[in-house]
Amino acid sequence: MLSSRSRRTAKEADDHPDEVLALAVELIDTALANIDADRSGVVGVGLGIPAPITRDGAIGSPALLPAWADLRPGEELSRRLALAVRVDNDANLGALGEYVWGAGRGCADLVYVKLATGIGAGIVLDGRLYRGAAGTAGELGHVTLDARGAVCRCGNRGCVELAAGGRALLSHARLSHPELTDLEELVSYANDGDPGCRRLIIDAGTQLGVALGGLVNLINPQRIVLGGELGAAADLLREPLQRGLGETAMAAAVRAVDVVQAELAGQAAALGGVALALGVDAVPLAAA
Ligand SMILES: [Zn+2]
Repeated sequence: MLSSRSRRTAKEADDHPDEVLALAVELIDTALANIDADRSGVVGVGLGIPAPITRDGAIGSPALLPAWADLRPGEELSRRLALAVRVDNDANLGALGEYVWGAGRGCADLVYVKLATGIGAGIVLDGRLYRGAAGTAGELGHVTLDARGAVCRCGNRGCVELAAGGRALLSHARLSHPELTDLEELVSYANDGDPGCRRLIIDAGTQLGVALGGLVNLINPQRIVLGGELGAAADLLREPLQRGLGETAMAAAVRAVDVVQAELAGQAAALGGVALALGVDAVPLAAA
């Protein structure tokens, strides 16, 4: 890596596509200037969006990102940069990044789980990213755990995200720790031994395992890679997650799968974007 720039958005990014895309352009230009380069030397751009993306680059599930619903983010960024842009769901890019450069190297059948504000998964099958007919493959956060549960932002009830997503965990944790600013802080409290934060993460692990069990039964992956901010609590999540898996997946499938922590931390999706821009997702890689 020659140069990298990132910034936390001042406004809630979900609601302000125009500002977010303008910021992306600014960061790209700054990253290029930092190595005395400019846009003329750019081979391609990869863009990650936290919602399903259809084959033609539209937002596949407008309910999850209403302010972006009428936009084709890849085309819009391409217009602003005058460069070729490829776009995909951010969990798919996380899967691709970990598969090419991280904890998924050499593993042709893997599930990357992005545990962040929301929950998403990226699926690599036979060495290729699997997106599905409408781009919604791997929408683990919207698997139903409780068909009579609370209504989720996707419109269904009792989704995994309501029980184990970062938004839910933070709002529960703030009842006893009103000072918590974000998910990273919640994880560091838990890793430092705070009993309430540990409890929340352990329970989330069990719920995730239960939900992942269906996926493990259906596609029989070799590895599950835990990423996103909550992936930093993988040591705490692993055991309850395995227990949840054990309750819902077949024993042979559970024995065949390793649960590991992501290696690329916050850069998995960005590096997946690089792989996407280079066209790596279309060609199976030889096992490393
Ligand atoms: Zn949902």
